[in-house]
Amino acid sequence: MRALTRPNEPPLRFEVVRRLRDGVPEDLLGYLLRHRRWPAARTRWCTSDLKRGPVKRLITQLANEVYAAEPGRTRPVRILNCLGMRAAESHARAKRPPLRVDANGRREVTEWLPLHTWPTERVWARINAAGAEPHPAYAAGQSRASCVFCVLNGNRGELASAARLHPQLAQLYELAEWLIGHDFRADLAMRDVLAAAEVPLLPRDWPLEAIFQAAPAGTGTAVAIAVLRGELPVAQALAGATRS
Ligand code: SF4
Repeated sequence: MRALTRPNEPPLRFEVVRRLRDGVPEDLLGYLLRHRRWPAARTRWCTSDLKRGPVKRLITQLANEVYAAEPGRTRPVRILNCLGMRAAESHARAKRPPLRVDANGRREVTEWLPLHTWPTERVWARINAAGAEPHPAYAAGQSRASCVFCVLNGNRGELASAARLHPQLAQLYELAEWLIGHDFRADLAMRDVLAAAEVPLLPRDWPLEAIFQAAPAGTGTAVAIAVLRGELPVAQALAGATRS
């Protein structure tokens, strides 16, 4: 957690949510190696367990903080949850109401999609007018920037391009796919993505699972990438060492 301060504005609190398993962080690749099935359209544990669940936990925490600061409070805590989803992105998103309220006795959460009706051109015009710096994935030709390798991305060219931009991550995904014996998607394996991107496969005895078991909680992917880049010796990774 950190506070973002701007001149003449009150500090803005900034939080990054993470999935916790038994109280310790777990990242996507670690979850995959334990779960041994990729997420899919009907089993999107990536969204429910790694995004929505942690956000819900934060909302509960925020409400609890308000009640702790106001012991006599009887009104529900009101929270505005703004999301950047747009109708043009998918049928499912088009069907989402731009405003909906989820309330119980303790908190009232209003979910608001302020960009729901915006076409892509308007988003870029607004970014340019604000002088904001777009995510580098867009400059690299990606149409969207979310998970680097999204199981729902039907654009094979974009996945191959993502593998060229993030070859080590692609290699780890492919090795995980091989280890669990379940393809990234029913119609597309990560080995095909690597082949299209001309990224070599990792040796089958590359110690991905062992690194994950030894890595400090939630850091398995970062540690594995550090080993691939030669920034961390394998032995040190297997001993649970963290980068300084
Ligand atoms: S971007 Fe794709 S892979 Fe990532 S959480 Fe969403 S659906 Fe899952």
